[in-house]
Amino acid sequence: MAATIIDGKALAAQLRAELKPRIAALAARGKQPGLAVILVGDDPASAVYVRNKIKACEEVGIRSLYDRLPADTGEATLLARVQALNADPAVHGILIQLPLPAHLDAQRILDTIAFDKDVDGLHPTNAGLTMMGRPHFRSCTPYGVMKMLESVGAKLEGSHAVVLGRSNMVGKPMAMLLLAANATVTIAHSRTRALVSITRQADVLVAAVGKRNLVTADMVKPGAIVIDVGTNRTPAGKLAGDVDFDAVKEVAGAISPVPGGVGPMTITMLLVNTVQAAERAVERPASGAGRSRR
Ligand code: NAP
Repeated sequence: MAATIIDGKALAAQLRAELKPRIAALAARGKQPGLAVILVGDDPASAVYVRNKIKACEEVGIRSLYDRLPADTGEATLLARVQALNADPAVHGILIQLPLPAHLDAQRILDTIAFDKDVDGLHPTNAGLTMMGRPHFRSCTPYGVMKMLESVGAKLEGSHAVVLGRSNMVGKPMAMLLLAANATVTIAHSRTRALVSITRQADVLVAAVGKRNLVTADMVKPGAIVIDVGTNRTPAGKLAGDVDFDAVKEVAGAISPVPGGVGPMTITMLLVNTVQAAERAVERPASGAGRSRR
């Protein structure tokens, strides 16, 4: 039987609709959630991602501030800008579009964002809190994947979840959220041996590698839930994931497509985190300036 297709676009629309009353409640208290986005350089793909994020903000009623800085921006300038945004009470979330140009130390810049404005969940404090099972901001992509799993009623407790990829942005926080949901988690990476024997044990398989058709039908246990985070291009320039979708959907119980799967969810969870940050700022009696923990 062919798999249930997990429609990330539809789920994202539902979650965005659920944000509107929360944003209206903030407006009633004189607050509008604000997201600052910084793009350094002219990478065309990054410019598209940023545009999509800003459009998504506008659609739900989040105010966006967009800094597009030249590729040769110095680290001191960028750090000063982040610090100014940290101190701005109208800004509840700060996002630095990655990758940054090579002359900038990305981790140092991410570390400078106040952890309670770090809506991407990449600050060490947020990564650490997630690892401890008490997340403050969940990293957007893994958070979106958890919502997708919830949408198909995945029974994670006691299940075996296999995550392909161990990046700080996707693989590791993904594994931590699955672990917090009481799954038994295996993380695989480029040095993993006998990958097929591992993936075939997975009740839940999350592919976050960036290699088209890495996951083939013979690697998937019948009935498994397969979430495809990968974004790759076909030779014809079409967007494709890490999973051989047409073949795997005949084996899996549920599967997310690319496009229309994880992508729209990632942006949506950024909006969710920004609204949550604004709600916290309203509850907090202090100045509204972000707290730094470096
Ligand atoms: P990344 O930093 O390049 O990490 C890729 C990971 O895959 C690494 O941990 C690498 O292992 C592992 N890997 C490489 N070859 C492998 C293999 N043959 N088998 C198992 N693991 C292997 O990438 P990322 O930032 O995590 O992103 C992963 C993919 O997701 C990319 O395609 C990216 O574009 C996409 N993405 C999509 C969204 C979205 O919203 N849709 C968001 C974020 C990322 P090592 O650590 O050993 O090198």
